[in-house]
Amino acid sequence: MRLCPVLPKLLLTAGALALGVVSSCQRPPPAKGVPTAKRIRPSIRVVLFTGRTGEALALGVEGPCRVLADPPSEIAARLRGWPVGAVRTVDAGIRTSDGLVVNASRIRIAPEQDGTLVVDGRHYHGNLELVAGPSGILTAVNILPLEDYLAGVLGSEMMLSWPPAALQVQAIVSRSFALSRMESQGAAEFDLVADTRDQNYLGMEKESEIAREAVNQTRGVALSYGGSVFRAFYHSTCGGHTADVAAALQRPPIGPLAGVPCGFCRESRYYEWQWSIPLTEMVQCLSRAGYAIQGLTGLRLDGVGADGRAARVELAHPRGQVSLPATDLRRMLGPDRLRSTCFRAQIRGEKVYFEGRGWGHGVGLCQWGARGMAAAGYTTETILQHYYPGAKLVTVYDAVPRVVSLSYPSPDPHRPRNEGDLK
Ligand SMILES: [Zn+2]
Repeated sequence: MRLCPVLPKLLLTAGALALGVVSSCQRPPPAKGVPTAKRIRPSIRVVLFTGRTGEALALGVEGPCRVLADPPSEIAARLRGWPVGAVRTVDAGIRTSDGLVVNASRIRIAPEQDGTLVVDGRHYHGNLELVAGPSGILTAVNILPLEDYLAGVLGSEMMLSWPPAALQVQAIVSRSFALSRMESQGAAEFDLVADTRDQNYLGMEKESEIAREAVNQTRGVALSYGGSVFRAFYHSTCGGHTADVAAALQRPPIGPLAGVPCGFCRESRYYEWQWSIPLTEMVQCLSRAGYAIQGLTGLRLDGVGADGRAARVELAHPRGQVSLPATDLRRMLGPDRLRSTCFRAQIRGEKVYFEGRGWGHGVGLCQWGARGMAAAGYTTETILQHYYPGAKLVTVYDAVPRVVSLSYPSPDPHRPRNEGDLK
């Protein structure tokens, strides 16, 4: 069952405006051809929890709520509150800590008035669907307005002390990413998950007035290319040059995600980094991933692109050599340890020493770069134009003719460029 509307592409084709043409005090015009009242205010479905077989979820509701079985057809219960307790699957359906068994493989918990969900100790807006899957696996999906979701994402993905233009950039990028996922997921059970596989979303605790303001100021605005909102990937720190989506993520190439120079992320502590790992541990990591090697005698990078990232890594071992994608090696060793595929490596003694630049896959927006550009006075639109060249800004829904006011002036386009400026 489809729980939220698919955004029609026609909304994205009209009203597009090239980035950088608008000033920071204007919004992109609304898409034409669809009356404002009928524009879609989308809801999004976010997986908060997928348990192992038989694993329970700590769940509660602050305030009255309805429980619907096989939503939206039946009301199974109306509760004045739901004390936090363990919820798990049983043969007959789903059982709460109070012993309430709902005989359905899917139930929806709908807080009323200002009630909020409490899931694994965090507070969330909207409704929650519990799905009892095969083998007793319980999945919890939060269904809420996209703009509420974005306020939680913003505080989870970026420091709210960063300049307003950087926060607005993140809001537009996260909205674009989410809309793209919603369209591609279609009739699937959910749109995205609440961690780094998609976007971090840690609920209401991560919201604040600052996050809300950045989301409201960009309400309904997204990035489009070729008439569609596209998957606006982003990452922490590029280390000097962003990556081509085709090489880094093995996805179809598109102009806005081909990679650009970035001289603005030098303040990130991971602009340059060093890390080492004992040879024995590295061999163990490779063995666990299915590479049956007994030792490691050499390591060579292959297919290093203009952005400095390696496509593959060749590992020499006592019985021969193996070649694997650099992204696979990063996953095996831990993406928070081997922070990017832009590195050099050397075996010395009993360790492998890595020196690298950047943190993350490197595609799309460099968040620390956005921070650097915003601090240098660049506008929201200019930052987006730099990291997604050729993309356009469109107002997809809920056009509100409000003024976006920033607390600093736009930079003088005629001033001499310094180190760190756009190249
Ligand atoms: Zn950067």
